[in-house]
Amino acid sequence: MDIQASLDFFEILVSTKSMDKLTKELYENAIKVLQKQIPKKPIQRISWKSCPLCGQGIGVNNETVNPKTIEYCYHCGQKLDWE
Ligand SMILES: [Zn+2]
Repeated sequence: MDIQASLDFFEILVSTKSMDKLTKELYENAIKVLQKQIPKKPIQRISWKSCPLCGQGIGVNNETVNPKTIEYCYHCGQKLDWE
């Protein structure tokens, strides 16, 4: 099962089933963690790139030789899409 299928499952679950507050928070946390595993393109600033989720620098500027080695934002854990 891929990440999107798991995300869809949890999102339907929390929106349709009644559950206690703690269980709901745990499912919502799982959704946030899974969403970060779906790669998103870094945002191009004037001379550097930032994370598409938290907006912080990801250690890449216009002179970085091989930015693809940075797979995840080291601030929030968002997976990065370099394609
Ligand atoms: Zn981030």
